[in-house]
Amino acid sequence: MTETGLRPAATAAVPEHHEAWSQTSVEERAQYLDKINQGLAARIDRIANLIAAEVGMPLGMATAIQAGLPVMTSGQMAQIVREFPFEEQVGNSVVVRDPVGVVGCITPWNYPLHQVVNKVAPALAAGCTVVLKPSEVAPFTAFVLAEIVDEAGLPAGVFNLVTGVGPVVGEAIATHPGIDAVSFTGSTRAGKRVAELAARTVKRVTLEMGGKSPNVILDDADLEKAVRSGVNNAFLNSGQTCTALTRMLVPRDKQDEAIGFAVDQAAKLTLGDPFDESSRLGPLVSDVQRDRVRGYIRKGVEEGARLVTGGADAPAGLDRGYYVQPTIFADVRPDMTIAQEEIFGPVLSIIPYDTEDEAVRIANDTMYGLAGGVWSGDAARAERVARQLRTGQVEVNGGRFNPMAPFGGFKQSGVGRELGRYGLEEFLETKSLQR
Ligand code: NAD
Repeated sequence: MTETGLRPAATAAVPEHHEAWSQTSVEERAQYLDKINQGLAARIDRIANLIAAEVGMPLGMATAIQAGLPVMTSGQMAQIVREFPFEEQVGNSVVVRDPVGVVGCITPWNYPLHQVVNKVAPALAAGCTVVLKPSEVAPFTAFVLAEIVDEAGLPAGVFNLVTGVGPVVGEAIATHPGIDAVSFTGSTRAGKRVAELAARTVKRVTLEMGGKSPNVILDDADLEKAVRSGVNNAFLNSGQTCTALTRMLVPRDKQDEAIGFAVDQAAKLTLGDPFDESSRLGPLVSDVQRDRVRGYIRKGVEEGARLVTGGADAPAGLDRGYYVQPTIFADVRPDMTIAQEEIFGPVLSIIPYDTEDEAVRIANDTMYGLAGGVWSGDAARAERVARQLRTGQVEVNGGRFNPMAPFGGFKQSGVGRELGRYGLEEFLETKSLQR
């Protein structure tokens, strides 16, 4: 794409736009965020319906999670920026935090509005102008956000929406000399490409990428509770969640009992139309994704893992649509493809282990480091093991998601953090004035 084709990026990069926005007061920007927050809250039903249709998450869950989270995080960001210390005295220096400049945001399809708001809200709060490229697979709610921003009366050129495919528009953003920082969420493959291209102009890069997250169930845990909760976690949004705990590590002598609970729990997750109230799991997002996931299921069988429920065939009565049966493998070895690669579908691998040290070693033995879980009857033991996991976040005994806590990955799961004050800091430069 030529630079003329990237007009909105040029608009954000026009010096008057980002200079004027960067010089607005914190309170003024917080008030714009309040208006965006109100606009999102007023459109919850529309947003949930759009996402249920384009991603396939059942409507009730889409309302609570897909539409609910952006309301929460945008509201919190208005408060965080009001309280943020933009200046600090260090000896004879005053350290000030400046907006990084023009921010390019590239986002995926699985939580399409949440991932957009995770970037746009803190970038605007920091005083940055924004060029957003949502996923071409689920772009609709980005248009709803554009409508909200317009209604909020944000000055022209501050928020810019460009649509298109990654290799064209995404790469143009990553290389454009007028863009100072790129915040990317998506696959590790595309994130690496963005980082390579962004390096040419030394842009600040934030990457939120894939995962293959472990759920370590220790021998003293409440096995039934841990397994049932772990199955629900792994299959949320039909497994299309970057933090899905897709590797369940269980003591070898408890594997059979764990399989019983897991298979029973999977059977409770009714598969069906996202607009049918009884559905707990919808179809996958696309035929490409369905075929990819079914390919991994076949690979698991070929490599000798034990299929205990589900499989690569279309679910009974659902041969139309992108449905995949909730699938569980047991006796998975840590070196198998299904234990190493991100599948991004409803596929859970149960991996038996013999000792706690071995469990920690297996948990950390992938190229990813996004999320993890630990279960134990002894809270102190659970926390001790949680601290040994090389992942950006760990759920201890089912601890719930906290949108004020930092979110991001170790190793090839990412660089930088989103959410809360940590998300705001990604969009700030640090400057010291000696006096
Ligand atoms: P994807 O990498 O295919 O696409 C993500 C975004 O990057 C899209 O907007 C796409 O157009 C763009 N893109 C693709 N190729 C590009 C290129 N060469 N240059 C620039 N941009 C490019 O990912 P997806 O299929 O939309 O989403 C699924 C992936 O996202 C999974 O791997 C998942 O783990 C990951 N994900 C990570 C997080 C996280 O926070 N860590 C959250 C959600 C999803």
